[in-house]
Amino acid sequence: MAIIDTGTQQFDGLRDRMRGVVIPGDDPRYDEARQAWALAAEQHPAAVAYPVDAADVVEIVNFARAAGLRVTAQGTGHNAAAHGDRLAESILVKTSEMREVSVDPETQIARVAAGALWTDVVPVAAEHGLAALVGSSPDVGVIGYSLGGGIGYLGRKHGIATNSVTAIEIVTADGRLRRVDADNDPDLFWALRGGGGNFGVVTAMEFRVYPIDELYAGMMLWPVEDAARVYKAWRDWTETAPDEVTSMARMIQFPPLPEVPEPLQGRHMMVISAAFIGSGEAGAALLQPLRELEPEMDMFGPMPVEGLMRLHGDPEEPSSHATDHALIDELPDEAIDALVDAHGAGRGSPLMIVEIRQLGGALGRVPEGAGALEKIDAKFLAFTGGMIIDPDQAQVIERAAREAMALLAPYSRGRTYLNFAERVTNTRSAYSVETHQRLQAIKARYDADGLLHGNHRIETAAA
Ligand SMILES: Cc1cc2nc3c(=O)[nH]c(=O)nc-3n(C[C@H](O)[C@H](O)[C@H](O)COP(=O)(O)OP(=O)(O)OC[C@H]3O[C@@H](n4cnc5c(N)ncnc54)[C@H](O)[C@@H]3O)c2cc1C
Repeated sequence: MAIIDTGTQQFDGLRDRMRGVVIPGDDPRYDEARQAWALAAEQHPAAVAYPVDAADVVEIVNFARAAGLRVTAQGTGHNAAAHGDRLAESILVKTSEMREVSVDPETQIARVAAGALWTDVVPVAAEHGLAALVGSSPDVGVIGYSLGGGIGYLGRKHGIATNSVTAIEIVTADGRLRRVDADNDPDLFWALRGGGGNFGVVTAMEFRVYPIDELYAGMMLWPVEDAARVYKAWRDWTETAPDEVTSMARMIQFPPLPEVPEPLQGRHMMVISAAFIGSGEAGAALLQPLRELEPEMDMFGPMPVEGLMRLHGDPEEPSSHATDHALIDELPDEAIDALVDAHGAGRGSPLMIVEIRQLGGALGRVPEGAGALEKIDAKFLAFTGGMIIDPDQAQVIERAAREAMALLAPYSRGRTYLNFAERVTNTRSAYSVETHQRLQAIKARYDADGLLHGNHRIETAAA
């Protein structure tokens, strides 16, 4: 292994050439700089660099190559835990100083700089009556989310976000800033859309946004004692639901905190949330079978498209959590009963949420010109986890999350969805053999020496 001098002097040459800031390991600001959104991730890179533009990124890549270091980009660090402890020889490129966003209402294309969050994009698109394929969290980074797939409440109608990407600007290992699209470096364009941050540092991205006139969305909540019957009725309802609706069913233990709405503080509930693209009248008719389950609270109604990014109620401050997930092909009664028996009423489960997302529709279809992650090949996506408030609880929550997903193993082919894989993961589990081999071949073509890496790593076949 190379001996890395992370002292200030080593990075003087880079500092002189960049407009942004470089923070090496012996800088008093290092501990703050190395922190990720996911607070449980322990990142110890050789240095943290904050480029302000693409020219800075070119300097970082050229400097790292000459210094024998590697480079990895990070928008927010929502999925920083996937790095594990493998950052010692890498410059961590934090893109938080690059947040420009614009939306062209004529072409219905949004353009964002590397560090834009969904909360930067959604209101700008909404001004033009356009909706972006945001996920459940407003402060997730657009680039990380889109390079990994991107499943949100408009997904069954408009597919995974990565398949709406139309162009990517990226600095590759040779230090070149390229504009990559269906006609320019098409193999690289294919690899980036689902292959994650392994092929360069993205400096800007363009993607389609969609006109949405009316949206009917919200949540229904029941006491968790009703979980099994609600999960099962919801599962049956999903069988015939049109692509215009995307929904999720979750058991949630709401913490007794002031930021939680008062009637829910400290309660364990069963929650269905959904978004329907269409009128309130049509939405109400569609949801009637769920209403007949007599929820304790019903918060559905017309919603502006900006509302979508907060529908789920995800945490917006950096948080410490342990999670697991599973892509599943069926959700029989036995699977629901097993989850509810283990984590339902009165079980003392350490898991804050046990969530099943409805997939299918456009999420499960391959559009023309799709990228490496061409669709999500499963009927449901299960996700579970808990907040680590006391560090001693971390392993307990992690084990409970793994065990909960193990209950679903009989209904899964063991595929992973890398955006939801928040630990070191073998990327072969996310693709077919042919797709993974093609990703490796493209990696070898653009980055034979492995200068760049993502959190979920695709190395050349030789590495
Ligand atoms: C609370 C929460 C809610 C979420 N909700 C959803 C959801 O609804 N749907 C969904 O699909 N996913 C969801 N996710 C998962 C999320 O999409 C992934 O964690 C994603 O990787 C986050 O991207 P980021 O840029 O914010 O995170 P980061 O950890 O900063 O980035 C993840 C990876 O993306 C790559 N990357 C980021 N920026 C660049 C760049 N400029 N150039 C090259 N590579 C780059 C890198 O490999 C990086 O390690 C959620 C995660 C959390 C924690």
